[in-house]
Amino acid sequence: MFEKVVIANRGEIALRILRACRELGIRTVAVHSTADRELKHVRLADETVCIGPPSAAESYLNMPAIISAAEVTDAVAIHPGYGFLSENADFAERVEQSGFIFIGPKPETIRLMGDKVSAIRAMKEAGVPCVPGSDGSLGDDAPETLRIARDIGYPIIIKASGGGGGRGMRVVHSEAALLNSIDLTRSEANAAFGNPTLYMEKYLDHPRHIEIQVLADTHGNAIHLGERDCSMQRRHQKVIEEAPAPGITAEQRRHIGQVCVEACLRIGYRGAGTFEFLYQDDEFYFIEMNTRVQVEHPVTELITGVDIVKEQLLIAAGQPLGYLQSDIRITGHALECRLNAEDPVSFVPSPGTISQYHAPGGPGIRVDSHLYNGYRVPPNYDSMVGKLIAHGETREVAIARMRGALAELVIEGIKTNAPLHRRILGDARFIGGGTDIHYLEKQLLETR
Ligand code: ADP
Repeated sequence: MFEKVVIANRGEIALRILRACRELGIRTVAVHSTADRELKHVRLADETVCIGPPSAAESYLNMPAIISAAEVTDAVAIHPGYGFLSENADFAERVEQSGFIFIGPKPETIRLMGDKVSAIRAMKEAGVPCVPGSDGSLGDDAPETLRIARDIGYPIIIKASGGGGGRGMRVVHSEAALLNSIDLTRSEANAAFGNPTLYMEKYLDHPRHIEIQVLADTHGNAIHLGERDCSMQRRHQKVIEEAPAPGITAEQRRHIGQVCVEACLRIGYRGAGTFEFLYQDDEFYFIEMNTRVQVEHPVTELITGVDIVKEQLLIAAGQPLGYLQSDIRITGHALECRLNAEDPVSFVPSPGTISQYHAPGGPGIRVDSHLYNGYRVPPNYDSMVGKLIAHGETREVAIARMRGALAELVIEGIKTNAPLHRRILGDARFIGGGTDIHYLEKQLLETR
């Protein structure tokens, strides 16, 4: 096993990685910005290196600073977490060229999957079902573009090949608006991602977001850990996730899981990854692959008993997977509520000092959060300050436990979206299960 790992991230995921490292006897190096000296994992790490000012561009996205930190501390590997440099193929390449292990897939895999047009092409070739759409990127032949859209059928969604984080997408309902919308999306995509490449898909009007977690080692083994339902979204951002997905049968899981496993083997995938699908009228449609650990990985951990972050470390160290597909059993149901430092009604970020913090507990409750009394949430980064995760024998038990956890939770000094979670957990449609990706925004939030 590695002697020492650099944790190139912040917040709850940095703490999660630190905990996995400790369990495996790996020493940790926390790299942090000047705004993050008080982060919980920075206080707990074996060594710390300040890598720059608060601005993420100069710290958590600063490749030379992170690699230098690995050099001066004699670390062996770098865990990128999620967000920041986790899906940056150039970073993975520079890490490897500098003689360190990047805890994630090979740079070329990240590059293939990071470009959505090439990812969809590769997945189609591997037999993964995709959303009906333009075969490849859109050129500037207007009549041809109009023809492609007509063939797909309106409404369509224009998407940036380099897009991410729910940005770089535009829905078009009629031919009259198409070319104009393409121009707008192209300039936005160029400005935001430095990549003007666009493609088109059928816009599905009532899909659920269902994703498959996979693990693949460097010895030719790959398995899936079942699915998660992440349909509770606002502005294409997940709010609540759960596993398994309500209504998905064991046979459906086995089938789509196997499709993903075969795709992993075909592209030589390495590490943990997620195949994201839209699911509508009993069909799965691939939308993208995330080549990193996901925020919502704990729900899968609770129903399978597999520690995904530990597996990432073991795989990166060259060990074979400790599980066969037949070892993976799904037990009970798990839910995750993302806690954001934001106004629960206006969604405006709410940084500040935590004057009171009390984490819930009891059977089936897990809290992944870096908060503590007196901690100051800086204004410079993503507003997520933790995750409440509840597990129970059934979905009903998990919901009841999550309600209890939300009632026990105390976070004072900043505003959080906990009231929104309490509302969703009391909503009859959510309790019924299987709501689509538009439900939260188009129905629940409209009727307050
Ligand atoms: P990102 O990389 O920005 O997260 P995705 O391709 O994963 O982009 O899409 C994010 C979300 O956008 C999906 O979970 C879904 O809510 C919505 N979306 C994407 N493609 C479609 C589509 N073809 N039809 C309807 N909604 C879509």
